[in-house]
Amino acid sequence: MKKSNQKKVNKLKRISVVPHIIMLLIFVTLIGVMAAAFIEVFLIYVVGDRIDAEVASTQKFANFIESQLPDDGEDFTITLYDWETEDYGILDNETDEFIVTPNREINLDNYVTFGFGEQKAYFDSINGAPTSDMFEDSEIDLSDVFFGALENINFGDFTNPGALNRDMITFHAWLVQPLKDGRYTLYDSSDIILRVKDVFYMVAVITIMGLMVAIPLILYIITLIVSMVNQKKSARLLYYDPITGGRNWLYFENHGEGMVKKTKRNGKKYAMVSLRMERYQSFCACYGAASGEDVIERINAVIKVSLNKRKELFARYSEAEFSLLLLMDSVEKVNSRVSKLKADLIKVLAPHKVDFVAGICEARYGEKIDAIYSNASLARKNIQPNNAEKIAWFDETLREEQLWERYVEENMERALKEGELHVYLQPKYNAESEKLGGAEALIRWISKEKGFIGPGKFIPIFEKNGFITHIDDFMISSVAKLQAQWVKEGRNVVPISVNVSRAHFTQEGLAEHICKLVDDAGAPKELIELELTESAFFEDKDVLINTVDKLKNMGFKVSMDDFGAGYSSLNSLKDLKLDVLKIDADFFRGREENEQRGSLIVSETIQLAKSLGMTTVAEGIESADQVEFLAKNGCDLIQGYYFAKPMPVDEYIERMTKG
Ligand code: C2E
Ligand code: MG
Ligand code: MG
Repeated sequence: MKKSNQKKVNKLKRISVVPHIIMLLIFVTLIGVMAAAFIEVFLIYVVGDRIDAEVASTQKFANFIESQLPDDGEDFTITLYDWETEDYGILDNETDEFIVTPNREINLDNYVTFGFGEQKAYFDSINGAPTSDMFEDSEIDLSDVFFGALENINFGDFTNPGALNRDMITFHAWLVQPLKDGRYTLYDSSDIILRVKDVFYMVAVITIMGLMVAIPLILYIITLIVSMVNQKKSARLLYYDPITGGRNWLYFENHGEGMVKKTKRNGKKYAMVSLRMERYQSFCACYGAASGEDVIERINAVIKVSLNKRKELFARYSEAEFSLLLLMDSVEKVNSRVSKLKADLIKVLAPHKVDFVAGICEARYGEKIDAIYSNASLARKNIQPNNAEKIAWFDETLREEQLWERYVEENMERALKEGELHVYLQPKYNAESEKLGGAEALIRWISKEKGFIGPGKFIPIFEKNGFITHIDDFMISSVAKLQAQWVKEGRNVVPISVNVSRAHFTQEGLAEHICKLVDDAGAPKELIELELTESAFFEDKDVLINTVDKLKNMGFKVSMDDFGAGYSSLNSLKDLKLDVLKIDADFFRGREENEQRGSLIVSETIQLAKSLGMTTVAEGIESADQVEFLAKNGCDLIQGYYFAKPMPVDEYIERMTKG
């Protein structure tokens, strides 16, 4: 998958909660700060007022006590007079109401503190009169204080509504006052009394604020969840194949990548299969698009049941082509599974006569899914006609061939333009006199980048992509120019044959085209021979006969190349009035025990050609014995390494001069 597409898919799949969480945090923090500010203001103005009043009375009391205390921090006893009870009391270091202590550190760290300036109120949860030992183990939090206070509400006398005290909440606190420069400390038990109304307002405001936060928060979270669900749904749609109702290639690519990645950890092996129904287009043309779609659905269903749902994967790639990722125990097991799958499909789709082809490639860790799949489909496309099972595995040479083909295609035009393509000439010698009797022009690619490249490596590619016609034109023109020049120079010129690809023969007006090229170069036509490969005779016979006749009438010589190789057709000799028969090199190769039979065929072929008035050329002759045999049997010309390999033009000129 393209990187940009992958990003888009991931974006759609990824439900990004981070911005939402940030938004929520900002929102909650803002409201929290507002609530805290409100509480603070309430405490300062309402509770603070009350504490201030208490602090003032504590200070008055502290002033009095201080005046009665000894200066040295010793224990003491003070006699008090209570104005209300009109009683005398004794104040010593500890009483129930307050504590004055010269030598005891009281720990108030765990108390809920509320402070103004130097004075601090330590809130306590005391219900009833405090005692000094309450300080000992007390750990008090806000709720203790609050609920302690609530329990402590004094509603007064219910029988007397006038005396009802219902709007008071009392919080107990210790006010701490140092005395005598810190030698004594006064802990004054104080009641901070709030009006219920004030507390109610505060609670009401805080509750409203809470609701202000909670309601939009809940709505926001609901919207978020809904959008997450919708996003998930659209992500699912992205992976949906509308015809099969199953997964599509995008899903396969995304999930397959993950499965292949995991193989490094889990030690599993996967095989990628490219399975395709043959002639699907013609099936649709016969039975209609709806039947075509029905077939695809059924193929999908059969594949689905044959796979391990959790550990394997498949999807429709295109038309009736499916990609499968199968667990791979061994090559044999994968082969037999794919064979069985193919058999099941054929059975399910009966009575329609259908067939399937499958290419397989091992899915290796680190490789991209689309790259593995293209290997598998390359293997499928390269299935040879003799492969009855129609299952093939990808191997590296296939990829190398692909890469090479791409290189050739990308560089062929440049090579022709920049003069990397050269004419080589291989002389043909008279069998008896051993004198130069002709030559064949053969192309060579001398690449700046790759060095010397033989035609076997690029001619088949040119034939496939059609560039061969340009090559043929180039060779004909070049040879014609050379011949024209040599005639002009008064050299002993012999005919040179040029290969004409069979792809060229489907072109209309070929004879006229070749004639023009040679005329433009100014070469005599009888010095140009055109070689046609035997297989060209199977294309369009009538066109071929017509072209050959025209060429001959124009004055060219026409030969049949590679006679006897591949599909031999004596029949073509009947219909085409050719000038030259080139006997294929294969007759002179092979096993020794067949040599005699080969020799017999060659001698008879020479006789046959002679009877038909054709000149004979033997190709690929490498030994003196072969030359002797051919001379004895009346072969006219010999082309082969025995005399000379294909050579550059300069070298050929030397040979031509020698004769
Ligand atoms: P071909 O036209 O049959 O050419 C004869 C091939 O046999 C040449 O191979 C030549 O080098 C090789 N040969 C000649 N004598 C011997 C020998 O004694 N031993 C061996 N082992 N080989 C010998 P080359 O040049 O590699 O060309 C291969 C084929 O490529 C040609 O077969 C022809 O079909 C095609 N080809 C070459 N040049 C051209 C061209 O310019 N145009 C077209 N259309 N095809 C070309
Ligand atoms: Mg040839
Ligand atoms: Mg040949």
